[in-house]
Amino acid sequence: MTKPENSLSRRNLLVGTAGALTLATLSDGGFSSADAAAPLQGASTPTHHRFKLGSFEITTINDGAVQLDGPHPIFGQNVEAKEVQDLAVKNFLPPTRMEIGFTPVIVNTGKELILFDTGNGDRNRPKTGMLAAGLAQAGLSVEQIDKVVITHAHPDHISGLIEGGKPIFPNAQYFMSTAEYDFWSPKDKLTGKTERVAKLVQSKVVPLVDKFTFIKNEQSVASGITALDAFGHTPGHTIFHIESEGKRLMLMADTVNHFVASLQRPDWHVRFDMDKAQAGATRKRLFDMLAKDRIAFAGYHMPFPALGFIEKSDGPSYRYIPVSYQFSV
Ligand SMILES: [Zn+2]
Repeated sequence: MTKPENSLSRRNLLVGTAGALTLATLSDGGFSSADAAAPLQGASTPTHHRFKLGSFEITTINDGAVQLDGPHPIFGQNVEAKEVQDLAVKNFLPPTRMEIGFTPVIVNTGKELILFDTGNGDRNRPKTGMLAAGLAQAGLSVEQIDKVVITHAHPDHISGLIEGGKPIFPNAQYFMSTAEYDFWSPKDKLTGKTERVAKLVQSKVVPLVDKFTFIKNEQSVASGITALDAFGHTPGHTIFHIESEGKRLMLMADTVNHFVASLQRPDWHVRFDMDKAQAGATRKRLFDMLAKDRIAFAGYHMPFPALGFIEKSDGPSYRYIPVSYQFSV
């Protein structure tokens, strides 16, 4: 009686065959290209993702990603580590390691090319600072950028403004919220808890100040693109509502920093949020709005291409639904 083949025995068989091939190749001395194993290429990284929003064209650009210990205590500072680890595992994520990406967004309105945030630039963080290279891959150049809009002044958003003392986007006008600039730019912020970011603002933003327009809630940076206060992450953190021919997209910036923790546990304290309670309230207010109006969003730290929808569950808790073909059908 023959034993029925199960998947395990078939797997063993395949491994055995591969082993035999390797041995044959090694003992052969020379071998033809047909016999050679394909070289390993290393993991691949997407550079950009483009889609249409009404008459606008939107490109998300991959500035890179870093790996860190976490999510706890970066996320869930106010709860036990185990609670955060359990949520990670439940969502098929490793409990104690995480990756966080950086995704600037470019909107081509047909009249202007507008970049939102500038990535890590020359911060010396391995595997980041790829915005300029990503632009080239997307068929765009730094010279073509007409406007640069900064959502807030954290290093992963402003470091790509100036590198080696030179502005990276030579033909751009710049925009940032008044509240954000007014918080970080005074000299008394150059010591204490605000020192690191305030110093960076002095070297990356202040030299360009004559080219900056400082904006307030509901002010437009271009036709169809409106600033909205989303304070808490920083004192002037600003998001942008984009609308073209009835199609809408919210650029949520750092309202949402982790696609599981920020959505499913919006009240968890996040290390990066300067005012934890205000950031949590802002998250819930905006998540409710996006869920109710079924608006897609781009999140600077969402998994690339950093586009999704928000579904409301009980709790308050929400679920991240990555964009698939909604913009192409
Ligand atoms: Zn950020």
